[in-house]
Amino acid sequence: MCAFWDVPTTVITAVREMGAGGEEEIDLELGPGDDGAGAAAPQFNPDTHAALMEQHGMKPNPRKKKKVVKKWRDEWAETYKWAYVAVHEGTPRIFCSVCKEYGRKHRRNPYGNEGSRNMQMSALEEHNNSLLHKEALRLQMASKDKGLGLIDLRPVFIKAILQRDPHELEFIQAVQEVVHSLEPVLSKMPQFVHVLERLLEPERVIIFRVPWVDDKGEAHVNRGFRVQFNQALGPYKGGLRFHPSVNLSIMKFLAFEQTLKNSLSSLNLGGAKGGSDFDPKGKSENEIVRFCQSFMEELYRHIGPNQAPDTPLGDIGVGPREIGYLFGQHRRLTSQYEGMLGIKGVQWGPSNLRPEATGYGVVFYAKEVLADLYKDLKGLRCVVSGAGKVAMYVLEKLIAFGAVPVTISDSRGYLLDDEGFDYGKLALLRDIKVHNKSLREYTKSYPRAKYNHDGKPWSVKCDVAFPCATQNELKHADAMALVNAGCQLVIEGANMPCTVEAIEVFRKSKIVFGPGKAANAGGVAIQGLEMLQSTNHVQWNSEDVDIKLQEIMKDIYQKSLKAANDFGIVKGSPEVLVHGANIASFLQVAQAMLEQGCV
Ligand code: NAP
Repeated sequence: MCAFWDVPTTVITAVREMGAGGEEEIDLELGPGDDGAGAAAPQFNPDTHAALMEQHGMKPNPRKKKKVVKKWRDEWAETYKWAYVAVHEGTPRIFCSVCKEYGRKHRRNPYGNEGSRNMQMSALEEHNNSLLHKEALRLQMASKDKGLGLIDLRPVFIKAILQRDPHELEFIQAVQEVVHSLEPVLSKMPQFVHVLERLLEPERVIIFRVPWVDDKGEAHVNRGFRVQFNQALGPYKGGLRFHPSVNLSIMKFLAFEQTLKNSLSSLNLGGAKGGSDFDPKGKSENEIVRFCQSFMEELYRHIGPNQAPDTPLGDIGVGPREIGYLFGQHRRLTSQYEGMLGIKGVQWGPSNLRPEATGYGVVFYAKEVLADLYKDLKGLRCVVSGAGKVAMYVLEKLIAFGAVPVTISDSRGYLLDDEGFDYGKLALLRDIKVHNKSLREYTKSYPRAKYNHDGKPWSVKCDVAFPCATQNELKHADAMALVNAGCQLVIEGANMPCTVEAIEVFRKSKIVFGPGKAANAGGVAIQGLEMLQSTNHVQWNSEDVDIKLQEIMKDIYQKSLKAANDFGIVKGSPEVLVHGANIASFLQVAQAMLEQGCV
C-alpha cells in the first residue's frame, strides 16, 4: 500500500488552484472517523484525465473543472482517510485522524481566524508532511503489523510530543530515533510504554534572563537554560553550551541524550543540559567574566547542595576558562567548594585526562568496532569535522594509534592535509584555533594542504568519518558523498551530528554507524573515575586513566551489542549499535523509573 503522504500531493494542488481561482469552495463533508465511504471508488488522476481529454481533441475548460471537483470530492474519503470532521468549540474542524490534531495549530494565518476550509486543508497538508505526523503514522503502522493495540504506543507521541512541543525539531529528532529503536522492547515489555511517555517529559526546565554589560557600558540580555531531564539514576550531570543557536529544543535534545548517555556509562548519574544563546566569539575576557557571573547569579539558585544536585560540565563554547569563571562565582555565592566537584576547572580537578576523555573515548570506541570487523586503525584514512575540544583530542588519539587523520573543520570551512596530521601539525592547529584565526593559516606552513572556505570534509576519500562539530552537520547529501568517498565506518563524536536521512543512507549502504550517545560517553565516564579516585584518596596517572577509559568504552560497546542481540538485532546489521545503545540505556533508566513509582 502506498503511504498516505505519497498520494495526495497532485490532488491537493489541484484543489488549491481551484480554491484560489474561486471556481468552487470545496465542501469537505466527511463522516466521523477515518473509514471513508469511498474506499472502493476508483482513484482520480488529474494527469490521466487531462491526457484523455487531449487524446479526444478536447481542451480542459473551467466548467469541466467543477466535475473534477465533484469527482474528487467523491474520492475524498479514500484519499484523505486520515482526516475527519468534528465539532470543536462549536465550530466544525478538519482533524487528522492519526494525531487528533486540527489545522489551526499548524497554520500561519495573519488574521488569527479560522479561515476557509481550503486554508485549513493546506494547514493540514503542512502538518501531514511534517516529521511528527509521519512518525506517528509509521509507529501506528508498525504497531498494527506487530498486532499491538494502537492505544499502547500512540499516547507516547500524542501526549508527549505532538501536542506539547510540535516545533521542537531537534528534540523530536532525538526522540524519534530512540523510539524507533525501542519498538521491539515495547512490544515485549508493554510495562515500559508509559515509562517512556514520562521519560520524554523533562523533570524540570529552568529558563532565565542573563543581563550583562559590555566593555562600552552597553547592557545586553541573553537567555539562560538548564534542563534537568531525569534524575532516576542519580544526580543531574551534563554540559553547558554557549552558542547563538541555543534554544529550548536544542537544550531538551541534549539533555535527553545526556540522560541516556549517562546511563550507558554505568555511573549512577542523571542527565541535564544547559547554556545560553550568548556567543563568546569576539567578546573580551572581561565580557566573558561578566557574562559567566551573571549566568551563575541565577543558575546557583537551582543547582548545588541545597537544591537538586546538579553538576554542569563543558560543551560548545564552554571550556576550562568559562568553567573557571562559573565555578568562582558559584563558590562566592554559596561559600561551597566541594559541592560542585565537576564544575571545577582542570587545574583543581582530581583526575588526569579530563579534557581529553571525550575525544579519546571516541577513538577507543572506534577501535572496538573495527576490532570486531578484523580491522585496525593503523593506516586508515580518517576525516574529522570540528576543531574544538572533542575534535582535537580525536585527532591526537588517532595519531597515537597510527591512523591518518586528513581533515579538520570549523564553522568557516575545512582543511585537508592529504599527508595526514602529526603531533607537530596538531600543535600548529591548536595555536591557530586558540588565536581564533582561520584554518587557512595552516597552508602557510604546509602549502600542499588545501583550505576550502564554506566547505565540509565529507567528500574526501576516507575509511572512517568522525563528525565532531555539532548537531545535524552531516546531512543526506553529505552521507552520499561519504559513501562515494569509500567510507566504511562513521563514529559520531558530536551529539546527533548525523540527520535521520544521513543515517538512512548509511543503513542502505551497509556503513557501520556508531551513535554519539555511546561513542562520546568518555567525558562523562571520566567523572566516574574522578569519584572513585576521590573516594579512595588516590590519584591515577594519565596512563592508568587511559587504560581504564579504554575499558569503559569497550564495556559500552559490548553492552550495546548485547542489548541489540537480546531483542533480535544481529551483530553485523548496520544499525546494531544505534539500536543497542538506545535499548541498553533506556532499559536502565526505565527500570529505575518503574521501581520509583509514578514520580
Ligand atoms: P567546541 O570546543 O566549542 O568545538 C566545536 C567545534 O565545532 C568548533 O570548531 C566550531 O567551529 C565547530 N562548529 C560549531 N558549529 C558548527 C557548524 N554549524 N558547522 C561547522 N562547524 C561548527 O565544542 P566541543 O566541546 O568540541 O563539542 C563538539 C560536539 O561534541 C558538540 O556536539 C557537543 O555537544 C559534543 N560533546 C562534547 C563533549 C565535551 O566534553 N566537550 C562531550 C560529549 C559530546 P568554530 O571553531 O568556528 O566555532
